[in-house]
Amino acid sequence: MGWLWRAAICRTGGGGRIDSRDVKPVPGAAPRESEVVPFDRRPVTALKGVGPRNAERLRRIGVETVQDVLFHLPLRYQDRTRVTPIGSLRQGDQVVVEGDIELADVHFGRRRSLLVRLADGSGSLTLRFFHFSTAQRAALARGSRLRCFGEARRGPTGWEMVHPEYKQLGEPGGGEMEESLTPVYPTTEGMHQLSWRGISDKALALLEECPGALPEWLPGPLLAQFRLPDLGRAIRYLHRPPPDASQRVLSDGAHPAQQRLAFEELLAHQLSLRLLRQRHNREAAPPLASAGTYAGALLERLPFSLTGAQRRVAEEIGHDLGRSHPMMRLVQGDVGSGKTVVAALAALQALEARHQVALMAPTELLAEQHRDSFRRWLEPLGIEVAWLSGRHKGRAREALLQRIASGEIRLLVGTHALFQEDVAFDALGLVIIDEQHRFGVHQRMALREKGRDRGAVPHQLIMTATPIPRTLAMTAYADLDVSVIDELPPGRTPVATVVIPDSRRQEVVERVRGACGAGRQAYWVCTLIEESEALQCQAAEESAAVLAEALPQLRVGLVHGRLRPREKEAVMARFKAGELDLLVATTVIEVGVDVPNASLMIIENPERLGLAQLHQLRGRVGRGAAESHCVLMYHAPLSGNARQRLAVLRESGDGFLIAQKDLELRGPGEVLGTRQTGEMQFRIADVMRDQPILPKVQQAAQRLLDEYPERVAPLVRRWVGERERYLSA
Ligand code: ADP
Ligand code: MG
Repeated sequence: MGWLWRAAICRTGGGGRIDSRDVKPVPGAAPRESEVVPFDRRPVTALKGVGPRNAERLRRIGVETVQDVLFHLPLRYQDRTRVTPIGSLRQGDQVVVEGDIELADVHFGRRRSLLVRLADGSGSLTLRFFHFSTAQRAALARGSRLRCFGEARRGPTGWEMVHPEYKQLGEPGGGEMEESLTPVYPTTEGMHQLSWRGISDKALALLEECPGALPEWLPGPLLAQFRLPDLGRAIRYLHRPPPDASQRVLSDGAHPAQQRLAFEELLAHQLSLRLLRQRHNREAAPPLASAGTYAGALLERLPFSLTGAQRRVAEEIGHDLGRSHPMMRLVQGDVGSGKTVVAALAALQALEARHQVALMAPTELLAEQHRDSFRRWLEPLGIEVAWLSGRHKGRAREALLQRIASGEIRLLVGTHALFQEDVAFDALGLVIIDEQHRFGVHQRMALREKGRDRGAVPHQLIMTATPIPRTLAMTAYADLDVSVIDELPPGRTPVATVVIPDSRRQEVVERVRGACGAGRQAYWVCTLIEESEALQCQAAEESAAVLAEALPQLRVGLVHGRLRPREKEAVMARFKAGELDLLVATTVIEVGVDVPNASLMIIENPERLGLAQLHQLRGRVGRGAAESHCVLMYHAPLSGNARQRLAVLRESGDGFLIAQKDLELRGPGEVLGTRQTGEMQFRIADVMRDQPILPKVQQAAQRLLDEYPERVAPLVRRWVGERERYLSA
């Protein structure tokens, strides 16, 4: 293997040859392969050179076992397998050059530096060291021959390398080149690349010695069907690619070895969700049969008729609810597609079957809006709509809980408060969750457990306004059935969107004056770093004051997350009733308010928000017949990525397309709202990059479940881990 590169001043160790003596014996393990401790149970400290200090550093980035080391793949590679003639260098190349020292001098310019001129017959190059020892200086003398690795840069006097790694040729063994591309690992504080190379060398040697400790879970026929290399080969290739490996293919993640690992990881996730679903399908749920009496009564009273898409989805749900296994259905529909009434129909079916229904929304404001819609629609049918929020306290709360537990309350609307410890239901048949993208798999499972009653679990209906691209939906929601409301109610006009800098604020203010002067209403949305609600509220307060002063003839209202619910409600009610012209708000209005007369929306600093969120905000206008406008007023300068994102919004009103772009520009964690929870964060796979293999993963998952069920659990354990509790039943 390789020879030791010396960095200019720090003396680093490692990188030498490895042999089996470097590997600590595993206590109690016989050398026979069949009895070897599997790598997922062998701690990193089993590798020589990894002591408690390094183990702790590795743990911080989730590397705890020998298997973790093997799955910790390089980010990129350097080519130290060949020498590049100085005459053919290109700017920015990271290369090995070799030559004789023609000149070595200390310069006392702005910074003292050692300059060494190296020539190889095809050209010359200056090595520049700002830190150097006396011994180094003496060694780097005219006449000696060097090999260097570094980045070639055009300097004032021709080609340069600043602080290259170098070695003197003529040392024993000095002439050998690296045999493989040099990996560069993602790392953490205190772990140098040389340490990584040393550790991975040892893990690879161990793999060579006992390949059975990293079992191949993908059956041979499946590998053949999808033309995938075996696991050991893929791992070895990616840690130490041969000199002729294409760096371009590797950096695109397109090499079969990478695809093989991504495939296995995606497969494991897919399987974990399918197991969850299987397990779910084995559960019992109350069949909610109804004659549709309530539903008929509601539809008769509605001022509109359902769209085809609403009718289709309502039927799908109705069918699910009649079964004796729990429904687990996600309804996707763009903002304004009319999900609420579909949810109401589902609720009516459960109520008619004499079961309880809980409807949960992620914010107080949205929950209130649902409560109001449901009251408007269901109270005329003689159904009480009860309300529970985190703000219910003391005696009133207890009385309410009592009525829920006794079954006197059949329909309960609220926030997360619905699923607190002390809320018990009498016969909960259906749970409806709005805006699902903020809840993850874990919450879905917790909710189900909450409603468990004598072995039966409630049906679940999940609604999201974030249209999720199909491939991603299949990957993220393999535990759910998905219905799509892919049609907007008739008569909606698209919202014309413009993107302008806040240096033109005055024009925008005039525009508000014009719109409101003509009898329309407007929103002015202030955004700020999401973490700080206090600052966001403050910004909204200031904006409201400034706008009120600039527009004395308008009635300006303010709503933000720090108002008391009563105050918030009062402001919203006045805006809805047309008693306010301009509503200044924070992003709390993202989901919720429905005011058809509002036709203008200004969003300040839209560059801070994701596309899906902006699309939702914008969905607050364009609800009436008038042509609506949205002004995205950004703060310059915009990054290239932000510019692109805002352009997407200007060009399109199609939630699915916007979601697809959001996915490309920000990644799946953001789109699904699971960035914090770590869901959809893969070790190796990249849902965007690996989209083409997703359908194959689906196929493979089915084949594995059918033909090799015994391999499912170990695969899931390898990639998804125990944290998911998928395997507990
Ligand atoms: P979302 O899917 O964003 O939750 P809502 O359920 O809030 O949408 O519906 C948006 C608006 O459209 C509401 O005012 C609702 O009453 C109305 N609506 C729903 N379905 C129809 C329909 N088929 N025709 C006309 N208006 C409808
Ligand atoms: Mg909604």
